[in-house]
Amino acid sequence: MIARWLLLFVLPFALLCGGKALAAEPYAGPLFDAHLHFNVEAYEGPHPLSDVLPRLKRAGVRAVLANSRPNAGTHELAASPAVRAAGITVVPFVRLYRNRADYTGWFADPSIHQMVLDELARGTAAGPFRGLGEFHLYESANADGPVARSLMKLSAEMGLWVLAHVDDEAIVRLMAHEPRARLIWAHTGIGGTPIERVRELLARYPQLMGELSYRPGLTVGEGRLEGEWRELLSQHSERFLIGSDTWTPSRWPQYEALMAEARRWLGDLPPAAARRIAWGNGQRMFGLPEP
Ligand SMILES: [Zn+2]
Repeated sequence: MIARWLLLFVLPFALLCGGKALAAEPYAGPLFDAHLHFNVEAYEGPHPLSDVLPRLKRAGVRAVLANSRPNAGTHELAASPAVRAAGITVVPFVRLYRNRADYTGWFADPSIHQMVLDELARGTAAGPFRGLGEFHLYESANADGPVARSLMKLSAEMGLWVLAHVDDEAIVRLMAHEPRARLIWAHTGIGGTPIERVRELLARYPQLMGELSYRPGLTVGEGRLEGEWRELLSQHSERFLIGSDTWTPSRWPQYEALMAEARRWLGDLPPAAARRIAWGNGQRMFGLPEP
């Protein structure tokens, strides 16, 4: 009778606890948020810097790739003594958009090209701009637009990184304009590019990096890393970055939760791989200080 009771109640409970104990601990080290926007709707609305900065601190973020519409948001972050005092490094990128209308025509708009040149010449209080983007190409063929072409050339000549929200075909087109380009693939295929294709492009372009916000299929169940992704990220941990993508004000109240989600799936990787994706790759790319 006692044996049966043990089998029915105690053993399953013990297994459950044991199973829980086996679940990986979240990654606890510093984070580089490689996809941060501080847009006008946030800073002139419910999420000014006085709201945003405590969120970054609580999330354990020690550096951000800042790109904002308009670029005033990035200039404000870069110039803030409070951000510097918090030990957060701002890596500024020139956003190609002055307003939402610029999303759909920038690749053929000479006034955007001029705006980028002006911003690069001006720089920020935190130092020169380190990259261009984020930009979007909703149709891959627009990667061949004249402004897209010349900005790719310019970025390669100046050693700038490019943050591109595009599909796999546009990656190929952009790299064809400028094989020396250093490209960060925002969301690493937000439309669900097959993982084998991601692997193929990483092999083909050694300077291609993948940023992982909004990537479909990355996690399963309660936010654990999907098996094939775990394999890819373990094998190529030097090629990936995490990001928040605060593209709309409603992302800001979720900021700490978004970073906690990243910490949870990073915990499913070998610790050295998790650290590279969370921090080390950004540190290598942009010369970030020790956290
Ligand atoms: Zn974005």
